[in-house]
Amino acid sequence: MPELPEISVIARQMDKEIAGKRILEIEVKQPKTLNIPVPQFIETAKGKTINKVTSKGKWIFVKLDPEHLMLINLGMGAQLLYFMPSTKLPEKYQFKLTFSDKTGFTIHFSWFGYIHLIPESETAKHKQTAKLGISPLSEEFTLEHFRKLLGRRKAGVKGFLLDQKNIAGIGNVYMQDILFKAGLHPNRKISTLTEAEIKDLYKAIQDILGHSVQLGGLVYETDFYGKKGRLTMDEFLVGYKTGEPCRACKTPIEKIKTGTTSSYICPKCQTLE
Ligand SMILES: [Zn+2]
Repeated sequence: MPELPEISVIARQMDKEIAGKRILEIEVKQPKTLNIPVPQFIETAKGKTINKVTSKGKWIFVKLDPEHLMLINLGMGAQLLYFMPSTKLPEKYQFKLTFSDKTGFTIHFSWFGYIHLIPESETAKHKQTAKLGISPLSEEFTLEHFRKLLGRRKAGVKGFLLDQKNIAGIGNVYMQDILFKAGLHPNRKISTLTEAEIKDLYKAIQDILGHSVQLGGLVYETDFYGKKGRLTMDEFLVGYKTGEPCRACKTPIEKIKTGTTSSYICPKCQTLE
């Protein structure tokens, strides 16, 4: 499942490749991924020019001139692939957008996903993106901002970080190593964090996510050009490594249940106290 690093890699590549291009044709094979009827979607988007492509959390924001937004969510894993006139199209896709220069992109959803089209003036009314919290890789995400966000909450640190209204884009995959790197148990209460622990957690979020972006994301996700990321499972510190020795103290890594999700921790490096 793509998380923030994979999505931001794709959004950056899209921006580089398609900004300035004009939409010529749209093909929709799965109408339920749209928020409006297919004819309305096509009529609205056709002829519009891509202004820029950005991302927030797990959403890709495609700004269309003059005043629309195409919001794409790849769900549990999907391929969003660029094509050129000479490229052989993938066998399966649910959505195809072609530009006037005959380049374009296809989307193949593996389970669910969304392609929403809204007037920019209704951004605040779009339920799934309006309440997204800050992006942890944005310049606005400072230590000061993070400290304020945490406040004196009673919640556990993992629950807080998973809540997309607080910080957008950290899912269960990168969570494991973020918490290990910060030396925090997933259920550790935010109100008990010391100033040093808050700093370590802030740094761990940026380090783990930033490292993945640099490598183009996870090896089992593909980018806009169909290229796999270079972050392999071997590079995970504790995630999905049940029974393997902790890199810091050699204690076997444990898989524990935390709320509705699983966590991988070193029981010695990540205690609840
Ligand atoms: Zn350890």
